[in-house]
Amino acid sequence: MSTLEKEQIISDEKKYVIGTYGRVPVVLVKGNGMSVFDTDGKEYLDFLAGIGVNNVGHCHPKVVEAIKNQAETLIHVSNIYYNVPQIELAKKLVNLSGLDKAFFCNSGAEANEAAIKLARKYAKANGKEGEIITMEHAFHGRTLTTITATPKAKYQEGFEPLPTGFKYIPFNDIDALKAGISEKTSAIMIEPVQGEGGIHPADNEYLKAVRKLCDENNIVLIFDEVQCGMGRTGTLFAYEQYGVVPDIVTLAKGLGGGFPIGAMVAKSEIASAFTPGSHGTTFGGNPLACASSAAALDVISELLDNAVEMGEYFKNSLKTLEEKYEFVKEVRSLGLMVGIELTFNGSDIVSKMFEKGFLINCTSDTVLRFLPPLIVEKEHIDAMISALDEVFSEI
Ligand SMILES: *Cc1c(COP(=O)(O)O)cnc(C)c1O
Repeated sequence: MSTLEKEQIISDEKKYVIGTYGRVPVVLVKGNGMSVFDTDGKEYLDFLAGIGVNNVGHCHPKVVEAIKNQAETLIHVSNIYYNVPQIELAKKLVNLSGLDKAFFCNSGAEANEAAIKLARKYAKANGKEGEIITMEHAFHGRTLTTITATPKAKYQEGFEPLPTGFKYIPFNDIDALKAGISEKTSAIMIEPVQGEGGIHPADNEYLKAVRKLCDENNIVLIFDEVQCGMGRTGTLFAYEQYGVVPDIVTLAKGLGGGFPIGAMVAKSEIASAFTPGSHGTTFGGNPLACASSAAALDVISELLDNAVEMGEYFKNSLKTLEEKYEFVKEVRSLGLMVGIELTFNGSDIVSKMFEKGFLINCTSDTVLRFLPPLIVEKEHIDAMISALDEVFSEI
């Protein structure tokens, strides 16, 4: 495709698409494994993976095959009928999560909405009020309720009035949480590794202490694993590494192998607060989405060892940059969820890396974020680190 067509696409986008995204001036037309390609055929190594979506890499053959087969068989039926891929996927998620029952939707925000609604319904059935505690620097989505669960002015301002019944507590601070709960508290929602907030993993003992606090006070514990789940940290669920099982986990991003799908998986006692008519969504558990997700889950299970090994390798490689450059404040990671905190805004570095053919992004202003597909190999990491070293050395 010529440059002229690229300019046309970009100007058409400005004219026809509502401007909710600040976009990088590139039109991506093809993907394969670690790589995506633009209209000029230029290749980029994708260290962002659709922001934690393409965990199996781009166009993974097993996912492509599952989508093709399912698309030729049955794309959609209403949830007023049974469909096989939905039930098969639920079975897989239940067996892998240590939880009991799944509900399917189409995005992370919707999975969190479902979790918030379920936790409130369960609490009300048990004579409690519906207050939900969330964490400072959390991110839970862009619906009205999930921006309320996300205590950040940038996401909330201008959208008032917001739903009520949320309370914010500093993350990784068990004493603040103990002081913050009351008889009103029906649920606590936490990302085991905060993603948008700048790659902040929960401390080892913190999640265990939160679990204990929830058990003692009959509070529902919700883990938002929309970003840190699906093998991202080296285990299918990040909570496996903390030795803690939540009452509800929410999933999306990497769940579908690139296809849109979200899920909430819950313990059966809590799940039973939802009865026919309590909640629903037209596309949730759609056969095509579930077939894609089931294939992605199988692939991810086989990539976990690589995610652990490459996560370690990535972290060690970054340590050398941390030592070399004073403006690198901290390197934080769990598996292949990696952040470099700088002493300044990282947007220019993201642009320079883009010019060199590497997709990364910057979150929370000063944190360079890396979420490569779990198929990443040493040679990709080496190439990325040497490009980053070059960019850093020019500062
Ligand atoms: C991305 C994200 C969401 C929102 O997911 P959408 O699919 O964009 O609605 C929720 N929680 C976390 C932790 C996320 O990273």
